[in-house]
Amino acid sequence: MSDIATDSKSKPPVLFCDFDGTITLSDNIVAVMKHFKPEGYEAIMSDIVSFKKSLRQGVGEMFALFPSSMRQEITDYILNTAGIREGFPQLLEWCKKNGVEFYVTSGGIDFFVYPLLEPFGIPRDHIFCNGSDFSGERIDILWPHPCDEHCKNDCGMCKAAVIRRYPKEEYTRILIGDSITDFEGAKLVDLVFSRSHLTERCRELGLPHIPFENFHDIVHHLEQGDWRK
Ligand SMILES: [Mg+2]
Ligand SMILES: [Zn+2]
Repeated sequence: MSDIATDSKSKPPVLFCDFDGTITLSDNIVAVMKHFKPEGYEAIMSDIVSFKKSLRQGVGEMFALFPSSMRQEITDYILNTAGIREGFPQLLEWCKKNGVEFYVTSGGIDFFVYPLLEPFGIPRDHIFCNGSDFSGERIDILWPHPCDEHCKNDCGMCKAAVIRRYPKEEYTRILIGDSITDFEGAKLVDLVFSRSHLTERCRELGLPHIPFENFHDIVHHLEQGDWRK
């Protein structure tokens, strides 16, 4: 097999992979809210889903419903309940073997994203997620990767801005995701590996996508060279 990353006939692929509900089996933010049920979370969540509130505003407001003193309890809950989707180590292995860059682009928060990814040896500068500050009375979510001048979506962690750093003239840009945090990025890329709401969204918008169940499926398609089509 030729080295995919240096194959001059085609642009090398670069992968942008969602975290919640994609690398993990379910969405950790949704799981935390449904488990602890902080007063008022339901209205905020429904405003996010119906696009009445931006992700940044909605996620910030939902975590602000929690006192910072609940840090350990919330972290423990996520670390004890989150499962990793099958085939994830194999996808990372495939990327390494083929010299393909792999980025985690997550709308999740550092205090659970980093520990859950710890076993997989992904360099920190390849993980994009939101931050957190527990020094005040209530949990304060921080946004180190905001939207660029081309995105008016108020994403919080702007996947579109991260993807734009890899020009489409040079890379075959591939997004892997499942839901609302992936909607904007999906419009930019050459190929989407989709689950759940993202599959419906791609169908509606006519975006090139391949539905997947686990990361073995994705390795299979990458190995077949389906990203070249
Ligand atoms: Mg997701
Ligand atoms: Zn954005």
